[in-house]
Amino acid sequence: MGRTGSIGSSSTRLTGQKLGFMQMPPTWTTDLPPDLKGLVEAAVRARSNAYAPYSRFPVGAAVRTRSLGIYHGCNIENGSYGATVCAERVAIFSAMAAGERDFDALALVAEHGAPLTPCGICRQVLFELAPTLRVVMANLTGGVTVAPIAQLLPAPFVLLES
Ligand SMILES: [Zn+2]
Repeated sequence: MGRTGSIGSSSTRLTGQKLGFMQMPPTWTTDLPPDLKGLVEAAVRARSNAYAPYSRFPVGAAVRTRSLGIYHGCNIENGSYGATVCAERVAIFSAMAAGERDFDALALVAEHGAPLTPCGICRQVLFELAPTLRVVMANLTGGVTVAPIAQLLPAPFVLLES
């Protein structure tokens, strides 16, 4: 097992496959729909703006509205680590601040062995703001996994009645 695509210490290292890519639900796909190619490219461009001096792990994201607007995000870290915000939240918060409310898809990308998956906090935020969102998880070498946010977070916390 190489270091590429793994996280954790050598004794607890998890690979992308052990994190779920071996047993993808049937609605997940490793084929990038043609209409989402540009969104991944936007996430790659956004990644160049990442502020990640602590992790040295720049991440880019881009969210698309149903009216085809695209908003960019990148991870923005802080010396007070808890103040760090992930790229996915920066993207969707930027869109929300511009008045957008209807989202179709979000792409995130990093240099990672397996297509990068959103953290738990981002899954919670994305689900509340866009429960039908398609999430495109990608790396810089063409690896892609596409999954609905509702399957990435099957039991979300919901405070408001819908
Ligand atoms: Zn996150």
